[in-house]
Parts: sequence; C-alpha cells; structure tokens
Amino acid sequence: MLMTMDTPISQYIIFVVISGVLNVLLAIYAYYNKNKFTGMKTFMWSTILSAVYTFAFAFELASQSLNEIRFWLNIEYLGMPFISPLSLLLIMHYVGIDKFNSFKKSWIFFIIPFITLIMVTTNDYHHLFYKALYLHPNTDTPMVDVVPGLWYYVHGSYTSGSMFASLFILYRYWRKTKSIYRKQMITLAIGIALPMLGALSYVLGITPLGMDPVPILMCITSTLYVTSIFSTSLLTVAPIAREHIFESMRDGVLVLNLENQIMDFNGAAAKIIPALTPETIGQRLDHIWKRGADTGAFSTGADDTLDHEEELKWVRGGETFYYRIRSSKLLKPNGQLAGRTIVMIDVTEHTLLHHKLRHLAEIDGLTSIYNRTFFMEKSREMLAATHQNQTPLCFILLDIDHFKQINDRYGHSVGDFALKHVVMICQQFLPDRCLFGRYGGEEFAISLPNTTLAQAGQAAELLRSAIAGNPLYSAAKSITITASFGVTQARTADIPLEALLSEADIALYRSKNSGRNAVHLSNNGTIHAFQEN
Ligand code: GH3
Ligand code: MG
Ligand code: MG
Repeated sequence: MLMTMDTPISQYIIFVVISGVLNVLLAIYAYYNKNKFTGMKTFMWSTILSAVYTFAFAFELASQSLNEIRFWLNIEYLGMPFISPLSLLLIMHYVGIDKFNSFKKSWIFFIIPFITLIMVTTNDYHHLFYKALYLHPNTDTPMVDVVPGLWYYVHGSYTSGSMFASLFILYRYWRKTKSIYRKQMITLAIGIALPMLGALSYVLGITPLGMDPVPILMCITSTLYVTSIFSTSLLTVAPIAREHIFESMRDGVLVLNLENQIMDFNGAAAKIIPALTPETIGQRLDHIWKRGADTGAFSTGADDTLDHEEELKWVRGGETFYYRIRSSKLLKPNGQLAGRTIVMIDVTEHTLLHHKLRHLAEIDGLTSIYNRTFFMEKSREMLAATHQNQTPLCFILLDIDHFKQINDRYGHSVGDFALKHVVMICQQFLPDRCLFGRYGGEEFAISLPNTTLAQAGQAAELLRSAIAGNPLYSAAKSITITASFGVTQARTADIPLEALLSEADIALYRSKNSGRNAVHLSNNGTIHAFQEN
C-alpha cells in the first residue's frame, strides 16, 4: 500500500515523530545539565525512554505487516513501562522527597516495568501479556487489535497507579507551596494528566480512528516541560523542599537585596521582629528593624562584601532576648554579589546561663560584692594599669571587730545580716571607681585607683566612723558594729599584689592591737595611726 502525506495516518505519524524529536532534544538538554540538579538524571532517562517509545510507535504505525508491528511493539516496551515510575520519581525530586534520589534506592520502582518488558518480548511462549494479537480487519493501513492477558492489566494498573501517585503528591504539596511556584506545579500536573486522559479515552474507544493518542499527548507534555524549564526554570530548584526547611527553621532568616530591601523572611524571623509582615517585603531593613525592637540596632556591616556576626540584646514586651546575628553575602552562581542573608539565632538561654555562671564565679553569694578570686584578678589588672599611667593606687583592708561575739550573742543569721549591713554602708561611702571585695569571712578589701595614701586614709576613716555611727537594728535591739582598718599604697612596679595586701594586713593588725575601731597606714613599711590634719 502506498502512503501519501495527506492521509490522517501519515499526518499522525508526523506528530509522533515531532514528539520523538522533542524528547531527544530534551534528553540532550538534561544530559548537559545532569549534574546541576538532582532531578535532572531522572528527567534525562524519562525523555530518552519517551523518545524510544515514540519513535518505535511511529515505526509501528508505518509498518506494513503484523511481524513488523510486533517487532516495533517490542521496542516500544523498551521505553514505555519505565516512563510513569520515572515521572513519579521526578515529582518526588521536585517536592523534595529524597528517599529515592539514586538508582540504588529507587530500583524497586522498575521491577514491574522490567517484568513487563520480559513478558512482552517472550509473549509467544506464555501469552500472559497478549492473549492474542491480530490485524484490525477494516483499516487501510495495518493496525493491531489485542486481547489483553493477565500481565497487561498488571502493567496498566502500575502505570496509572504511578501517575495517580504523582498527582496525589502534587496535590498534597499544593498548599505548602508559595504561589510563584504554583504555575510550575500546574504545568507538571497537566503534563502527567494528559497522557492519562488519553490512555483512558483510548481504552473507552472514543479516539478518532481508534488511534492511540498517548504518544501525541506525550509530545504536548514534553512541550509543557520545555517551556517550563526555560521560563520558570523547572527542576532548577526543589522549591517546596527549600520552602519547607526555610519555614521550619528555628532561627530567623531574612533575605536582603543589594539595596538592603527585604526580599524574603521565614516564620521564625517574623516571631523575632513582629513588624515583619508580608507587606514589608520590599521595604528597607533598617526601617523595620527600628520598629521591631525597643532597643537594639544591627548594621549589616560597614563593608557589605564581608560576612560578619554580632550579638544583640533585645528588649521585647518587657522581656530581654539575646540574638546572635550572622550576616552573610549571597552570591550568584557567577560569583557576583546578589544581596545578603541575615540569620538570627536565639541565644537567650545560653547567654543568661553564661551570665549566671559568670556571676557565680565572680560574686560573693551573701554580700553580692566581688569574691576574693575576682577581686584579686581585677586588682592585679588595676595595679598594672596604674604603673603604666603613673597614677597612685591604694588598698584598704578592713575586719569587723569581735564579730564572733555577734554570732554568739545574736545567732549566725544576724551575723550574716551584719555583714550585709557593713557592705551597704561601705558602698554608700566609697567612690564608684574603686573595687570592693569580700576578702575573707568578715574581712573586706578595697582598691582605690587614683588615690594617694592620705586620701585613702581619709576614705578608711570615713568608713570607720560610718560603720561605728550606724548601728544595726535587729528585733528592736541596736547592735553597734565597729571595724579595724589597714591602708597601704602601691609605690613601685615590682611589689606584687599579695605583698601589698599583707602590708595592709600588718597595718590592720596594728589597728586591732591599738584597741580596734581604728585606721592605721603603712607607709613604706612604717606603720602609723591615721590622723586628721
Ligand atoms: P577580731 O576583732 O579579732 O577580728 O575578732 P573576730 O571575732 O571578728 O575574729 P575571728 O576571726 O575570731 O572570728 C571571725 C568570725 O566570723 C568567725 C566566723 O564564725 C565568723 N564568720 C565568718 N564568716 C561568716 C559568715 O559568712 N557569716 C557569719 N554569720 N559569720 C561568719
Ligand atoms: Mg574580726
Ligand atoms: Mg577576721
């Protein structure tokens, strides 16, 4: 029989061939991008196998005998059974289900298609796929009719099952997707649904001339994919997976463009900065930042080309929060700066714990002044600084008189209270710049920077008279407390802190021996009582 270009069948063949060529082009495109995106290898295989199927189908249509048709049918099944599971895997890549993202993990999807291929090629021996295969009686060109066997149904169910699964996954992820990606999803869904509808109408016998429309519809599917790849870069990202990670992050993330305008932010960021609403997209960050926090400001860094990190204290609704804020540059694939991302990590718990630990390590629990260790550390720093600045530095040691008797007479808790009482008086009369620490049980130490020995003696005398003149009132009883003082000055750089404090201690001892409630100064090793002049 002679074929001319104007018969419906020959026009049909042309469409099928176009579809095949499109698939080959897509396969080439996918091949050259196969390592760029995770889904690309899957896409490449699905286009290669679609091309095999479509071309074999074209040859089947053009065949002149039943044997020729059977040959091309076998070739068709080299590709066709694998296409729908590949589509399913592609959709899973797209939505970010990565359980099956390599052949090692996804081979299970190809068991039934592989058996189908074996069944078709060996059908003559078991007739499980086609019970019978014969030429359609009333057509101009030879076409086959089939009587389906058992495996034919298995193959059909598996194919449509995969397609339905793909559609179901798209449907499930539809609501989680930002609207800009929904066009891609519709494209994918149409791409999947078209061949399904075609196969259905073919089975129902409502296609023109009883021809199988699937290869033609696959041409449309391919076209949809091509336009999608070029227009919205389908498969270039796994947008839903990224979206999901972005939204479920505990850390706040902001995406800024080069003008510091907000391009995107996640839910955690909106929780940290309540002023962030969908309407603020496009506004400058500093604007939002000012409205978002009672206190705190953040610079994206003086030099925008650098990554940088800082910690920020933030008071929101009367509560204090601490954030570690990391600003990193956002580069285009070609290395050009595109903007920056700002990650806000809530470190409140960590910072508060850190503060607490530092407090425990530095502060005396009873009196809330420096403990001995921290007093010594700070004083050593102060000593080093005064030698550099050539300024005078003095130390006062004071010890409460007959403190044991207060404990014995009124009890330990009154003793504790007396310690706090003395500390409070000292704090009232000491200048702000000095260090004040609990040196021992009822013994205290003071470092006075920028103070001469005479001035330090005066300060000690002031404290002495204030303590003696402010009795402690406990249960309506008045308890007079006194203390003895020793004062010394740091003269040369080579005398260590311990030696200076022991000088002060010797002066203090002299105060005790001279009847207590007194101030003695140690001047270059000689001790004398403080005298007002
Ligand atoms: P002196 O005038 O010679 O300094 O006599 P004193 O009784 O003050 O000196 P002593 O060193 O004999 O006794 C100090 C007492 O201070 C002994 C101890 O039980 C008491 N003490 C030390 N730390 C604390 C404290 O944290 N709370 C109370 N309540 N007592 C304390
Ligand atoms: Mg004492
Ligand atoms: Mg003592």
